[in-house]
Amino acid sequence: MKCLVCNAIHEQNVCPRCGFPVVEIPGDYEAGLKALQPTVAKYRNDFAKKINVALVVHNYDYDNDLEYMGEEKLPFGNAGALMSAEKWLDVKFINVLSRKTFPVTLNVSVEGQPDYILTLEINNLPSETIQVGISLDESFDFRLIFRDTSGNTVSSDAMPLLK
Ligand SMILES: [Zn+2]
Repeated sequence: MKCLVCNAIHEQNVCPRCGFPVVEIPGDYEAGLKALQPTVAKYRNDFAKKINVALVVHNYDYDNDLEYMGEEKLPFGNAGALMSAEKWLDVKFINVLSRKTFPVTLNVSVEGQPDYILTLEINNLPSETIQVGISLDESFDFRLIFRDTSGNTVSSDAMPLLK
């Protein structure tokens, strides 16, 4: 069974990922599904607000010798907000121009569940600095976006945000 809210495939009465119950639709399936849409949309919206996405960055101090200052999580916001609009971090990252692709790490936190990490590679842009953005669709598939100083962008492939 595929969950109507988050698309998880499961064989239980209630989705183990988002908690939405399996709904038996009597009679015409398409009409029943259509009638359910407002309920599904509201549940999806509420569930999405419980998911927070952050970019994991490693900070270095350039003042002295290169010193590792530790990891930081820069929040993109909750999945509900990301579904309604592309979100860009305010930070301009210094780019490593010799890299063809760039490894990116996201921290995903779903209320009531342990945080997990998603890693992906995104094509690099020939730009001194890079901004990082994210977009999320209603199936919980996200794309990571790089933007250079002239406004050119490059996106990753769509990837599932949820495990
Ligand atoms: Zn679900």
